[in-house]
Amino acid sequence: MKSLKNIPSIDEVINEPRVQDLACLYNRDFILERSREATATLRKDVKNLSLDLSRPQALERIIGMLQDYCAAYQGNLQRVINGTGVILHTNLGRAPLGERALNQAMIIGQNYSNLELDLSTGERGSRYQHVEEVLTKLTGAEAALVVNNNAAAVLLALTTLAQDREVIVSRGQLIEIGGAFRIPDVMRLSGARLVEVGTTNRTYRTDYEAAINDNTALLFSAHTSNYKIMGFVHEVSLSELVDLGRQFHIPTLYDLGSGILVNTKAAGLADETNVQDCVKAGVDIVCFSGDKLLGGPQAGILVGKAKYIEFMKKNQLLRALRVDKLTLAALEGTLLEYRIGKPEDNIPVIRMILSSEEELAQRARRLRRRLIKKLNSESKVTKIKVSPVRDTIGGGTFPTYELPGYGIELSFSGISVEGVAQKLRQGRPPLLVRKQYNQAVISLRTIFDDEFDTIAGLLQQALAGDEGEQK
Ligand SMILES: *Cc1c(COP(=O)(O)O)cnc(C)c1O
Repeated sequence: MKSLKNIPSIDEVINEPRVQDLACLYNRDFILERSREATATLRKDVKNLSLDLSRPQALERIIGMLQDYCAAYQGNLQRVINGTGVILHTNLGRAPLGERALNQAMIIGQNYSNLELDLSTGERGSRYQHVEEVLTKLTGAEAALVVNNNAAAVLLALTTLAQDREVIVSRGQLIEIGGAFRIPDVMRLSGARLVEVGTTNRTYRTDYEAAINDNTALLFSAHTSNYKIMGFVHEVSLSELVDLGRQFHIPTLYDLGSGILVNTKAAGLADETNVQDCVKAGVDIVCFSGDKLLGGPQAGILVGKAKYIEFMKKNQLLRALRVDKLTLAALEGTLLEYRIGKPEDNIPVIRMILSSEEELAQRARRLRRRLIKKLNSESKVTKIKVSPVRDTIGGGTFPTYELPGYGIELSFSGISVEGVAQKLRQGRPPLLVRKQYNQAVISLRTIFDDEFDTIAGLLQQALAGDEGEQK
C-alpha cells in the first residue's frame, strides 16, 4: 500500500512536458478529466493488485494511460475495415471514394470556392452548373442536375412533372428500397397520383395504353434493383416505353437506381443497362445514385432533356434537396476520373468489381502469411486457410449476382466465431468479417492492401482479449 503515496497529484501530471504537448490538441478541461480518470484507475490497480511502484514509475503509467485515453476519443463515426466482401454496404457508407474525389473535397472544403459565383462576370452563379457539363459529356444527355440523393431526385422529378396528375407505373415495379423508400409512398408525397397497371409478373404495352388519358403526366419505370422475378414474366422494355411516350406526347422517367457509367458486360458483370444506354434509348429523365456503382459520394443525379431539367431547376423544392459543396466537390472528382482518368484503377468500387480471381487469390496468400506470422503463438486459432468465396455487389444492386473471389477462413478453439466477430467489431478500427458455419471469413475484395497489418493486429488483440489501442 505504500506506493499509493507515490501516485502523483493532478498538478504534477498536468505540468509534465509530455502532457503539455497534449494541450496543443486537447483543451484543459478534457485533459483534467482524463488525468483524474487515469490516477483513479492507477489507484485501484495499486490497491487490488498490490502493485509496488516508485514515483517515476507511477507517473509513467499515468502518462501512458492519458495518451491512450486522448487517442481513443475519435468521435462516433469511424473508419471500418470491411471484410464482408459486400462492395456497396449501405450500413458501411456505400462507396469508399477515390483519390480525385477526396482531393477535390479537401481543397473545396479547406478554402473558399466559386460554389455560387460566376467567375467570368463576377455575378451570382449556380452550384448546379459545376458538374453539368461533365455529366452531359459522360452520359450523352442534354442536361443534368444533382440533388441530395436518388430518393430526392425521384421526389423532385415527380413533383415537378406530375403534381396533381397521374403517373403510370407497372405493378411489377412498385419497389421498396431499404430505408423506407417505397414508390407508392414517394408518389403520394410528391402529390402525383399513382396509376398501377398490369400485374406483379406481367405488364404489357396495352396495359399502359389503356390507362393513358388527358390527365396522364408521366410514364414511370423503376429498376427493380434489389430483387428479381423469374419465370412467367413480362415487362415493357425501356425503348417500348419511350415509343409509347412519344406516341402520346407524355414524358418518361426512369429510376435507374444504381447508375453505372462503365460497360457492365466488359466489366464481367451481368449485362445491365448503364446510364448512357438509357439516354440513348430516349428516356426523357433518368435518375440514379452517386454512391452506388458510380463509386462517388451520396447524391441523386438527374440527366435528360433540357426542357424537363429546367423545370426542376426552377422548382422551390430544390432548395430543400440542395446538394452540399463537399458532395459536389467529391462528385466532380469522381466524374472527372471517368472523363479523363482511369476509373478501372482509381474508383475503388469499380476496381473491386474488376479484381480478378488470380489477383484476389494472390492477395489472400499474402494476407495469410501476415496472419500466420502475427498469430503463430496464438493457440486459439486452429486454422488460417485461403479459400474461394462468393462476393456480392450489394447496395440493393445485382441481387442475384455473385462474384467469385478469395478470402481467409479462420477457425478457433476456446472461443466462438460470434465471440471473435463481436470483439473484432469493437476493435480500433472495427473489422467486420463474414460468419460462415463455425468460421470467420475475411474476403479480400473489399479490403485494401494497407490494411493487412492492421487486420493481423486486430485479430491478435481480439484473441488476447485485449481491447487496447491498435495503430
Ligand atoms: C437505391 C435506389 C433508390 C434510392 O437511392 P438513394 O440514393 O439511396 O436515395 C431509389 N430507386 C432505386 C431503383 C434504387 O435502387
